[in-house]
Amino acid sequence: MKPDPKPLISLVVPVYNEATLIERLHDEVAQAIDRVDANWEVIYVDDGSCDESLMKLRDVQARDSRVVVVELSRNWGHQPAISAGLSVAKGDAVVLMDGDLQDPPSVIPDLVEAWLEGARVVVARRSSRKDRGLRGVLFPLFYKVLGFLSDFPIPLNAGIFGLLDRQAADAINRLSETNRYLPGMRAWVGYKTKVVFYDRAERAGGETKQSLWRLVKYALDAIFSFSYKPLRFCLGAGLAVSSFAMIYGVALVVLRLMGMGMFGISIVDGYTSIIVAVLFLGGIQLISVGILGEYIGRIYDEVKRRPLFLIEDIHRSETQSIDNRPPVSALADLLKTHKSESQRDPAHAQS
Ligand code: UDP
Ligand code: MG
Repeated sequence: MKPDPKPLISLVVPVYNEATLIERLHDEVAQAIDRVDANWEVIYVDDGSCDESLMKLRDVQARDSRVVVVELSRNWGHQPAISAGLSVAKGDAVVLMDGDLQDPPSVIPDLVEAWLEGARVVVARRSSRKDRGLRGVLFPLFYKVLGFLSDFPIPLNAGIFGLLDRQAADAINRLSETNRYLPGMRAWVGYKTKVVFYDRAERAGGETKQSLWRLVKYALDAIFSFSYKPLRFCLGAGLAVSSFAMIYGVALVVLRLMGMGMFGISIVDGYTSIIVAVLFLGGIQLISVGILGEYIGRIYDEVKRRPLFLIEDIHRSETQSIDNRPPVSALADLLKTHKSESQRDPAHAQS
């Protein structure tokens, strides 16, 4: 059989209790991917939804043979769900996207275009963000803190939305860490990266599925998995405080020996200085122990080596034949052909 000259692109979308959105989501996805001249598989990962999401996804799959539904054994969370989809994806490139239409599918052709132009990693970066209330305050603060603390540059204001080519996707699949912060891991693996800007929409419907607590944990993962600066901060604070205490101590002893008070207070009455020193040092010690605890807890998670997710079932359409594809090694040439074809034929050109 003649190999199919088009690349295969996988789209991975985590879904948790989004039953009301699924049809609209797939319509928009289908519209967007129809604009890209490639073979597609759309992998919806059902993250243990307790509404009709799985049923709706199976309906969509019955209608569209490009759809694959991955069913997880329970609710594992946003990052594990994406990792599960990424592990199943067979495409020459994998697009990651949220399922609540906050990541607009209409940007997908731009991501693919950036890939065809040679980027191995494409990051979709929000040029605006429409979070309200506490989240509207906490997200910018988080990105400021992360930007300051991170040991290497992680593109800020970027979530999981973006594209990974096969090599980058394999690299991320090989990272077995349990506390996953994908935007950080994507920056960590490196590779030629391109940023595409887009406007982040509001949720198309339903409630956010990430509780504030989960977002806080996600933020802590981002900071503690990609930075040793908090530890260094403890060390620095400890050194600074103990050096000050040493000088202060020597000064007190000298003044005491000379029979003098300090700032007009006789030294025996030094309740204030003692209580201040005790509370201050106690506070610094507790913060330091807490920071150590954050790292140790993560070490404990990692040494357990538990799987990141468990897949209960993978539903594929029987007609889906993605094994007629040419081997990935032949891909570079094919991409060139594909690109020149799409340049020749304006109907194939991506916007
Ligand atoms: N999601 C998931 N598992 C979860 C929580 C969320 O698969 O435990 C999915 C959810 O369906 C959505 C995406 O992850 O498609 C992002 O979640 P959400 O919009 O709730 O997060 P936010 O945008 O508020 O950070
Ligand atoms: Mg969302």
